[in-house]
Amino acid sequence: MAAGRIKLVYKCKECKHENYIGKKNKTEHSEKTEIKKHCSNCNKHTLHTEKGKLH
Ligand SMILES: [Zn+2]
Repeated sequence: MAAGRIKLVYKCKECKHENYIGKKNKTEHSEKTEIKKHCSNCNKHTLHTEKGKLH
């Protein structure tokens, strides 16, 4: 199945809550990305950093 694809979680930088789950192609993006998303825990938009979980 989907070789090279990794599952990742996006963690809120402020409260460390894992709010979003996504997938990406490992070969396309090797660098960590930061995205601005709404955090339900902080109840505001915060930076979310990705954290790879499964290979
Ligand atoms: Zn948060």
